[in-house]
Amino acid sequence: SDSHFPIPISPAEFDYSHHYPHFFPSSREHHKNENAPFPRVKFADVGCGFGGLLVGLSPLFPDTLMLGMELRDKVSEYVKERILALRASTNPGQYENISVVRTNSMKYLPNYFEKAQLSKMFFLFPDPHFKEKNHRRRVISLQLLDEYAYALEVGGIIYTITDVEELGDWMRSCLDDHPLFEQVPEEELETDPVVKLLTSATEEGQKVARNGGQTFRAVYRRIKINE
Ligand code: SAM
Repeated sequence: SDSHFPIPISPAEFDYSHHYPHFFPSSREHHKNENAPFPRVKFADVGCGFGGLLVGLSPLFPDTLMLGMELRDKVSEYVKERILALRASTNPGQYENISVVRTNSMKYLPNYFEKAQLSKMFFLFPDPHFKEKNHRRRVISLQLLDEYAYALEVGGIIYTITDVEELGDWMRSCLDDHPLFEQVPEEELETDPVVKLLTSATEEGQKVARNGGQTFRAVYRRIKINE
């Protein structure tokens, strides 16, 4: 149950130095650079599974901190080990910008991220929860989009993809119905290097590709509305 994993009581309590030691070498070092901006997690991979997306994104944005969130204990442990092994086997400084937490994102996302902290959120191949009565367990819903809109900066992007057509329609319709999101035009997606990774870097995407399956993508931008 949730009581078995630690949850920061607020984003300020999240231990960055533990997750990203390379970016937080020591408190003394930090004092020396008092004017240097304090780096914050900018990308969240929600339900990150085995971490393929994080590993693919890491070298593309070496100065951007990214966090995977994964509910299953064994899977999150695997991702943690995978990242430590990559850090140890590559040049110093590589893969230092990615980390993972075991958590239930549907309950605790606001414990990790401040208002407008994130520039990208990923929901890649989430569990479908087919039955009508289970739709409230879906990781995209109008209610949860309120939380995601809060955590995303204006202009920030939410990426979703699935091989389940019904879930793809559902995610798109939730995003269409939410006043704080607008669809990113297809031309823009063609030049976004992140878009290719949605299928090529994720373990689920690779599985779907091997089986020749179709995928359904919805990518939306957090917009500002007059309050
Ligand atoms: N995104 C990965 C990929 O594309 O390869 C994994 C997809 S997998 C089908 C969905 C993952 O979401 C599972 O690893 C599951 O444990 C995780 N998950 C489901 N509900 C979650 C929640 N509430 N919080 C965090 N992770 C969750």
